[in-house]
Amino acid sequence: MAKVKASVLYKPNTPIVIKELEQEEPKSGEVRIKMLHAGVCASDHHVMTGDTAFEFPIVLGHEGSGIVDKVGENVTSVKQGDKCILSFVPSCGFCNACRSGLGNICDTNRLTGTRQYDGTFRLKDEAGKEIHQFAKLGVFAEKIVIPESACFKIDDDFPTDVAALIGCSVTTGVGGVINQPDMFPGASIAVFGTGGVGLNAILGAQIMNATRIIAVDINDSKLEFSYKFGATHTVNSMSEDPVKKIREITDGLGVDFALDTFGSTQIITQMIASLKKGGTGVVIGLAPVGEMAKINPVDMVKDHKKIVGSYYGSVSPHVTFERIIDFYKTGKLNIDTVIERTYSLDQINEAYDDLVSGKDGRGVIAFPK
Ligand SMILES: [Zn+2]
Ligand SMILES: [Zn+2]
Repeated sequence: MAKVKASVLYKPNTPIVIKELEQEEPKSGEVRIKMLHAGVCASDHHVMTGDTAFEFPIVLGHEGSGIVDKVGENVTSVKQGDKCILSFVPSCGFCNACRSGLGNICDTNRLTGTRQYDGTFRLKDEAGKEIHQFAKLGVFAEKIVIPESACFKIDDDFPTDVAALIGCSVTTGVGGVINQPDMFPGASIAVFGTGGVGLNAILGAQIMNATRIIAVDINDSKLEFSYKFGATHTVNSMSEDPVKKIREITDGLGVDFALDTFGSTQIITQMIASLKKGGTGVVIGLAPVGEMAKINPVDMVKDHKKIVGSYYGSVSPHVTFERIIDFYKTGKLNIDTVIERTYSLDQINEAYDDLVSGKDGRGVIAFPK
């Protein structure tokens, strides 16, 4: 047992508390990571507001990078001192989804959820209460014990704030565009939502040499910011009808691809209506659990429209990480511009207040070196 400084959410709609927890040593197939950077992502916020069904108490945070501090028995893919991107789906490698090449939606990972793969916990508070780790990670803590398969080794000189973002928003956004099987260079692409994932989807559209990249949001300052990432047009869906506007921009045709990066049933309806004949709508953001979207089936049939879901970049996360790192190293993917603010772990509540208030770009938590 070791002591570790962590941030804990005891129940929804209460502040996160920073405290010392008891942490077990890594077991077989597990590693301990000293955190370097963690991204402030909206998915954690959904847990804070109780919009998603999770067990408490929990250490949140699922977008991170760190350095291997200790390895448990039978760990072969990483060693002490390795810098890593952390995958929020540590694919088991053996289930049906993993064997089909879809490690991003690993069955075993989903079954065990916020517990480690053996179904147990590594964290306890002073009262002996066991603490969940969001996505088996819970990166809002100075050190974390996680499955070896969550680690993707990077070069020692690779920037660790960028690496953290590759762990969630970049892979989800860029991967959701470039890994679509029918994607092609020169497509027209509309991106609904310009948060962390949306901006990365815009970067993905740029990598595909999209001819029109239309950013849709309700916040003018975020729309303005999206031009920095390659948006060619912006639409404020509060003041104008996004479907009408997207048709106007595309000479009446509609777009080849539209993505809902926010997660809203209303956006899904608009997204499908703004597609060209034969176009594909990609649902990336998570709408509130239980809500149903209205889809026009006649439109789907007559205009050959497709609607697909995309989780964590649509393929095995490690595959997308590798491609993104190559894009970054060759200067084709400017992820740095997404990072706007840096916080310490003690400022975690402030970091989420800023996210809720709609500040541009991504915030990251920097841990002491
Ligand atoms: Zn995320
Ligand atoms: Zn699996």
